[in-house]
Amino acid sequence: MRLRELGEFGLIERIRKATPSGPGVRLGIGDDAAWVECKKGSLLVTSDLLLEGVHFNLKWTSFYSLGYKALAVNLSDLAAMGGNPAYLTLSLGIPVDFKAEDVEQFYRGMRALASRSGVVLIGGDTSAALRFFISATLVGFAPYGAITRSGARIGDHLYVTGTLGDSTLGLHLLKRRERRAGRHGFSYLLSRHHFPTARLTAGALLAREKLAKAMIDVSDGLLQDLSHICTASGVGAIVYQDALPLSAAYRNWAGRKGPLYALTGGEDYELLFCVRRRDRQRLERFKKRLGVRITRIGECRPIEEGIRVLNSAGEPVAVPVAGHDHFKGKN
Ligand code: ADP
Ligand code: MG
Repeated sequence: MRLRELGEFGLIERIRKATPSGPGVRLGIGDDAAWVECKKGSLLVTSDLLLEGVHFNLKWTSFYSLGYKALAVNLSDLAAMGGNPAYLTLSLGIPVDFKAEDVEQFYRGMRALASRSGVVLIGGDTSAALRFFISATLVGFAPYGAITRSGARIGDHLYVTGTLGDSTLGLHLLKRRERRAGRHGFSYLLSRHHFPTARLTAGALLAREKLAKAMIDVSDGLLQDLSHICTASGVGAIVYQDALPLSAAYRNWAGRKGPLYALTGGEDYELLFCVRRRDRQRLERFKKRLGVRITRIGECRPIEEGIRVLNSAGEPVAVPVAGHDHFKGKN
């Protein structure tokens, strides 16, 4: 059914009916505001925007995956603070010629991830728009205190979870309308782009064990996000290019791009964190429980040294662009 037939309130009613309640929720969708009971101490709140034509292209993105991703990117922000996610609001601007089923698919994707991550949808807003846009706000708890970007010190070791560059390489293949889809690892790269994994278990454990002293999620490219830690902490850093964790699929498809996307590509949603040297052995002991591979990729240096990428001979490598910026260099 088209939205112009169903109407705003018809749509909201469908969303409400399909939305389960959860712990602490006195009132979810349906009133002027959600009403939530909580006695768990500090809250974490994060918001993200996804805009058609800027963040996604409906030619190669399903509504299901968009719903999934709208939540995943917010989960990743909470993971990077070491928190536990709890409540979500979703505000949508929807072109009137969309079908209600499209929007329902979007919510299905979101719900699939929400139920797995202990997240309850408690409200949102709905408007007509010229292009699809999504604004998601996620509230969570910080039972162990939050890990900020500013706790890095000279000599700390730098680690990342998972592998880097897969998402941007997947997007690159989509844009190129790559046809050799059967080749090994193709669908893996696409799934890393469409269905990113927020590292919630790792983030919370690193916070609980006080192992990560500074942390950020890699959403705009490793070097860009590393620079945020460096600026906030007042340190520089070196990154060992050869140490970057690359998936087999990445190695198979990167070709002449080499490690470029691993250094500068966005939307990995892996965690980048700093660990004191003395905690290295302790980190090793927790490795298995983090639920994801972790790799040491560099260390923090004095601020005067800036951020440098070194090759296997220890020489600095030139990197053309740092990462994603919505405004810089755009006309
Ligand atoms: P208001 O006029 O106060 O903005 P609405 O009619 O927009 O109220 O919303 C009614 C209820 O539906 C509220 O609980 C709101 O949080 C919820 N809601 C509206 N749009 C959405 C949406 N896209 N997703 C989830 N909940 C929504
Ligand atoms: Mg409203």
